[in-house]
Amino acid sequence: MDLAKIISLSGVVLFLLVTVNLALLLLTTLRRAMALGEQRRLDGEWFSERLALARLQLKRQENAGSWNGNRKFEISRIVKESVDASSFYLVPHDKKPLPSFLPGQFLTFEIDVPGQRKRVVRCYSLSDRPRPDYYRVTIKRVPAPTAVPAAKPGLVSNHFHTAFKVGDILDVKAPGGGFFLDTSRLTPVVLLAGGVGITPIMSMVNEIMAVTPQREIWLFLGVRNGSEHLMKEPLEQLARTNDRLRLHVSYSQPAATDAQGRDYHHAGRLDISLLREKLPANNFDYFMCGPGPMMADLNEGLLAWGVPEESIHLEAFGPASVKRTAPPTGEPASPQLKVSFSRTKKDAAWDGQAESLLDLALAEGVPIAYGCRAGNCGTCKTAIKSGKAKHRKKPGCEVEAGTCLTCIALPESDLSLDA
Ligand SMILES: Cc1cc2nc3c(=O)[nH]c(=O)nc-3n(C[C@H](O)[C@H](O)[C@H](O)COP(=O)(O)OP(=O)(O)OC[C@H]3O[C@@H](n4cnc5c(N)ncnc54)[C@H](O)[C@@H]3O)c2cc1C
Repeated sequence: MDLAKIISLSGVVLFLLVTVNLALLLLTTLRRAMALGEQRRLDGEWFSERLALARLQLKRQENAGSWNGNRKFEISRIVKESVDASSFYLVPHDKKPLPSFLPGQFLTFEIDVPGQRKRVVRCYSLSDRPRPDYYRVTIKRVPAPTAVPAAKPGLVSNHFHTAFKVGDILDVKAPGGGFFLDTSRLTPVVLLAGGVGITPIMSMVNEIMAVTPQREIWLFLGVRNGSEHLMKEPLEQLARTNDRLRLHVSYSQPAATDAQGRDYHHAGRLDISLLREKLPANNFDYFMCGPGPMMADLNEGLLAWGVPEESIHLEAFGPASVKRTAPPTGEPASPQLKVSFSRTKKDAAWDGQAESLLDLALAEGVPIAYGCRAGNCGTCKTAIKSGKAKHRKKPGCEVEAGTCLTCIALPESDLSLDA
């Protein structure tokens, strides 16, 4: 082999070596870049997870300020909302942080009312969205029923209006209740309110508008007339600024000064025919709070329209008038049972006529303390000494084993209660 050939061969080898090296370098760089990309993706995922965790922790911290028993709150402001309803703004007297709550939940108050042997317990829904600095409840004065001339006007609601003033201090239990909106969802909702039942619904509307304003809301409000039209201005203002909120107000007995188109949209009761006329379909989540008969009619109408029971969420401000499907466990209440009250040494026959064990007890003169009569506040919780009882609806507070909320409980067997 001559020298020229050797030189050209070494050149080729050298070229090949350099090319292979360059290719290797390129490959390594590419691998590094890919590894870096993967690392960045993993970092991104890790960061998102940390962020989600941090959000969860923040939420937990907000709720961590929750308290057991009573906490002192000061009335910081009272705002008249209609002829017979006012909003009470409450700030914690200890000035410590205010735990958040879920829109739709309520506060439980323990109030000293002059002339009452014991403190009186009542629940009031939180009527604004969770705020860091105050809670708000909106309370309607309950008049004496015209059908019972001897009856007095509502004890606590009137006490709020006539006795309490700014600066007064109240005993309040932490927010609670199972009627609330899942604000992490974006699915459209139908909100149905009757009269003062707008309070938990207003909290839901305000929260959606602040957190997920793109969420579609159909809000149907039924009131008697303009004098009882609670939250009129704020709702109209929200509907003006966000067309995702569709507001339908019905007046069942419009006054001469009320104008259709200006004050309200529909004359007549809020009923299922209006929902069927206005809603594009039936597949929504429904949240409902109002007078018993209104809720019973709407509930029945929605079920008949094919809305599944689990899509209808209800809050009753008093004894439930809507009968939900009985829980699958347990036998139906027998009309031939014996209920004994061990402390007062009284026996009663359960014939299925009383609405609840509480009603049976009160009719027999057995003094069980009660508050909401709707299975929420826990005041009527009573120990079961023997036998079985079941709840007509899901309790809105914790119920330990071996106890029942007598206001929503029915006997399932002969029963002995520690009352
Ligand atoms: C979860 C929940 C949330 C609530 N949220 C709100 C809210 O946001 N705003 C609101 O205003 N309310 C709300 N309520 C209702 C509230 O808790 C009270 O039930 C309401 O204020 C009436 O209480 P009261 O003490 O004024 O009336 P009560 O003294 O309990 O009387 C109630 C009614 O019974 C009548 N009555 C009294 N004695 C007799 C008798 N011997 N015979 C016949 N009738 C009699 C009274 O005249 C009155 O009409 C809520 C209730 C619950 C359970």
